[in-house]
Amino acid sequence: MSRTFLVILFLFLSTDFADAEELQSREEILEERMNYYVKYSNLSVPWYYLAAVDQFERNIQQVRSDLPRKDGPVALQFSTDFWVGHLNPFRDDMSELSIAFFNGIGKDGNNDGVVDIENNDDVMYTMTTFLEEKGYSEENFKSILKKYYEREESVNQIVTIAKIYKEMQTLHLDKRVFPLPVQNNYSYQGTFGGKRGWGGRRIHEGTDLFASYGVPVRAVTYGVVEIMGWNDYGGWRVGIRDVHNTYIYYAHLSGFNKEVKEGDVVEPGTVLGWVGSSGYGKQGTSGLFPPHLHFGMYKYNGKTEWAFDPFPYLKIWEQKDKKTSK
Ligand SMILES: [Zn+2]
Repeated sequence: MSRTFLVILFLFLSTDFADAEELQSREEILEERMNYYVKYSNLSVPWYYLAAVDQFERNIQQVRSDLPRKDGPVALQFSTDFWVGHLNPFRDDMSELSIAFFNGIGKDGNNDGVVDIENNDDVMYTMTTFLEEKGYSEENFKSILKKYYEREESVNQIVTIAKIYKEMQTLHLDKRVFPLPVQNNYSYQGTFGGKRGWGGRRIHEGTDLFASYGVPVRAVTYGVVEIMGWNDYGGWRVGIRDVHNTYIYYAHLSGFNKEVKEGDVVEPGTVLGWVGSSGYGKQGTSGLFPPHLHFGMYKYNGKTEWAFDPFPYLKIWEQKDKKTSK
């Protein structure tokens, strides 16, 4: 795929609702989703667990060509193997009895007598019964997810989404800000994919925003702080993960906001630290290059995580912040 196409693809994906936008407002879509989550939640399966799995499925469908894309309020879809049972010879089995016989997990959620893998109520009810198998605790939630998704990274991503929903108590999390307050002097160019300026072997996976020491570095989105500490290349660096399977990486800070720590949920605008020139040496190394913020964005598709160009997003967020700060 050409880079231009990827950029367009991601800009499109970042909206997450472009298809239905004309028919339904964003508010209505989120409300409809929330209704499903609340309807099928119970004491052992809180709404944000259902919401997190559903959102994860939506995220991976948007960036994977091997997965059918499910439109409508519920993106969640089960593999046929899990739904009807691995050894079930009837791949489109809709009988609760025979599915149960073959250890399939499909259930009849709307009591219409058939177990329909395409029906949102059946799918949500099945997810609830699947998740409540062991009772409510984060450890159990993780082990059930591991059984279905197999990958540790997928489990981590879903638990992250659940944590953000739980803390914010809403699905309305579309707000974004520019990583630096736009009142400051700074400059940046689209240098994604070029050779690294500062001695690295890999291509440059991000955008460098040049600014003075001490300019605040902010969370651009709602996210969980996944790492915060020293890395020999990145210096004082911090990474946050959001509800769209996006990992955002900030490097070369002069220091961190002491009020933020790993595992915290941050909001757009939360100060994470300050622009600096740390890195390229042992802990504390600083001043080997001009102060700047290295800003990277990565997408996880359920199998791998890859870097994409933050530049077009930075432009959009910058323009929006400039408008609102006037
Ligand atoms: Zn950089």
